[in-house]
Amino acid sequence: MSRELRDIIAETKKQLEHLRALGVEGIQVTAAAQVIERPQRAVTPHAEAPKNPTPVEITPAPAAEPLTSLFGDIAPAPVKLTRSTETFEQIHAEIGDCTRCPLHLERTHVVHTEGNRKARLMFVGEAPGADEDIQARPFVGRAGQLLTKIIEAIGFKREEVLIGNVNRCRPPGNRAPTTEEATTCKPYLLREIAIVQPEVIVVLGNTAMKNLLDTREGITRLRGRFQDYKGIKVMPTFHPAYLLRDPSKKRETWEDLKMVRDYLDSHP
Ligand code: URA
Repeated sequence: MSRELRDIIAETKKQLEHLRALGVEGIQVTAAAQVIERPQRAVTPHAEAPKNPTPVEITPAPAAEPLTSLFGDIAPAPVKLTRSTETFEQIHAEIGDCTRCPLHLERTHVVHTEGNRKARLMFVGEAPGADEDIQARPFVGRAGQLLTKIIEAIGFKREEVLIGNVNRCRPPGNRAPTTEEATTCKPYLLREIAIVQPEVIVVLGNTAMKNLLDTREGITRLRGRFQDYKGIKVMPTFHPAYLLRDPSKKRETWEDLKMVRDYLDSHP
């Protein structure tokens, strides 16, 4: 890219930032404006918006339509899940005796998502621990027993909800899965979510939250606030294993889960 072009882009960006600061939400570029060459002018830091910058028409963008943002990128249309016609059995058969990531080396069993495949509510954890690895079932150890109590506390039976993990094989020493391991396994979970399309997903702890929401925020910041995964409400909260280590966090977890219960109760 030529220096001249870079200067023009930098200047345009500054002007657009200035317009945004003035409250302009969208710019409709007329056909004429697209072909008129802008006169060159010196770039000064924090230059004021020119009185007659270009023959562009500035109109408030219609609220419901995707905006062409001031930086030229289109605000992404909300992505909604399309209902999948796959079955869990197909997905589990495809996973098979998986060797796609190093976690297979030390696992005993692949631990699949279990529960109600028509669930309104789903819980997603990180990866199986020792008990889950032996029993081939998610959340059956101490943290799992606490999760069962949490589920019951908001009026569900364990078998009424869906329970899964980002990774299906136990990481050695219960370490968190690496990004690569999570990225390898996560698509199967997402395919199950696309089949069931629960109304709410509770993500338990940082690994589950970061993987489902693609965020760099930490659980402490996002917990207790509904997020969105392709049209599904997502509630981040603390992982039950963390609650076992720090029971004082149960109070916040209870607040988060009450929000989930209230949401489901008000959307029967
Ligand atoms: N911790 C998890 O994240 N998942 C399980 O299945 C068990 C413990």
